[in-house]
Amino acid sequence: MDLFEYQARDLFAKHGVPVLAGEVIDTPEAAREATERLGGKSVVKAQVKVGGRGKAGGVKLAGTPDEAVARATDILGMDIKGHTVHKVMIAETAPEILEEYYVSYLLDRTNRTFLAMASVAGGMDIEEVAATTPEKLAKVPVDANEGVSIEKAREIVAQAQFPAEVAEKVAEVMVTLWKTFIAEDALLVEVNPLAKVANGDVIALDGKVSLDANAEFRQPEHEALEDKDAANPLEAAAKAKGLNYVKLDGQVGIIGNGAGLVMSTLDVVAYAGENHDNVKPANFLDIGGGASAEVMANGLEIILGDPDVKSVFVNVFGGITACDEVAKGIVQALELLKSKGEDVNKPLVVRLDGNNAELGRQILSDANHPLVQRVDTMDGAADKAAELAAAK
Ligand code: GDP
Ligand code: MN
Repeated sequence: MDLFEYQARDLFAKHGVPVLAGEVIDTPEAAREATERLGGKSVVKAQVKVGGRGKAGGVKLAGTPDEAVARATDILGMDIKGHTVHKVMIAETAPEILEEYYVSYLLDRTNRTFLAMASVAGGMDIEEVAATTPEKLAKVPVDANEGVSIEKAREIVAQAQFPAEVAEKVAEVMVTLWKTFIAEDALLVEVNPLAKVANGDVIALDGKVSLDANAEFRQPEHEALEDKDAANPLEAAAKAKGLNYVKLDGQVGIIGNGAGLVMSTLDVVAYAGENHDNVKPANFLDIGGGASAEVMANGLEIILGDPDVKSVFVNVFGGITACDEVAKGIVQALELLKSKGEDVNKPLVVRLDGNNAELGRQILSDANHPLVQRVDTMDGAADKAAELAAAK
């Protein structure tokens, strides 16, 4: 989960990374009081989850409370790279900025380690620095068990060749930033710019944080950071039911057991779709090992509730949960939905294989549900589901 700048700022403050005061608002008029509270001057910053706000005109200085209202009026509603600005942060103005640096930690999946990155050439375009002058961007692996002590931080700072007068301050920031990274289970913490200001202080003026969703179970406070307005309603409903669901933009609803099987089902359906009007998978949904009637009903309810879905492919490989259980689950799920008054009218193609497949297929044949078709191979079932979606 990517955070807004103001949320990143709050987490930085919590762990001792130096930041400036600020508050987030969503109406121009609120910019006045917020700026008054900051002593009459402020920086008005668009809150969007995309970089390059400065260049796009989303970061403006305001010398008076009136000016802050005017700048907030300009920025609220602005489109920045396809993101509409709904909130702005009114931040304390930094003392005169003398230099802008870049520092970050991230999970380096390729090298199976954490990575510190630092550069004295920070500011707006770190991607360009990395591309054109990679020697200006120090990359230092961080051992997960050892972490970043002040000694390690000094090593990072030395590699990036920070000027002597700020080296120790930057090293201290690297230690507190590491604390943020670990304590919050982040995948990325980035400060750009880390500014050297007139009084010699080093301050994080902009932050980007991405949190690891796999750590949600031990980070109860992170739920409050979710951007509920932006969440897809189907994904939100699936999450509330504990389902592992991702909305995609095709027409064939997909249900399977096991993430690997569902991933390959997406591929097979996309491939089959090439022969049928280019229909594509409408979602990813893994109902996991215990495909009970209730879980199946929950999954079907989400998928059938998606207006884009024209047909559904249920692809199950029986393992611990045998195919006869799954088949009963499908039959019961359709009854359950009907009894709840759901309008179930989309064709379902079901492929059952693995443990007790024969029994499962028999149960489906016996139930003889008008919307359910059995196809016993994965490729055949994908083709049928694509054909049905294209015909609608
Ligand atoms: P980004 O363009 O989305 O990365 O937004 P930033 O928050 O990094 O802001 C872009 C630039 O605006 C920074 O590199 C700074 O030069 C400038 N900036 C940001 N905050 C302040 C501030 O408090 N005072 C001043 N004078 N400039 C700022
Ligand atoms: Mn920035």
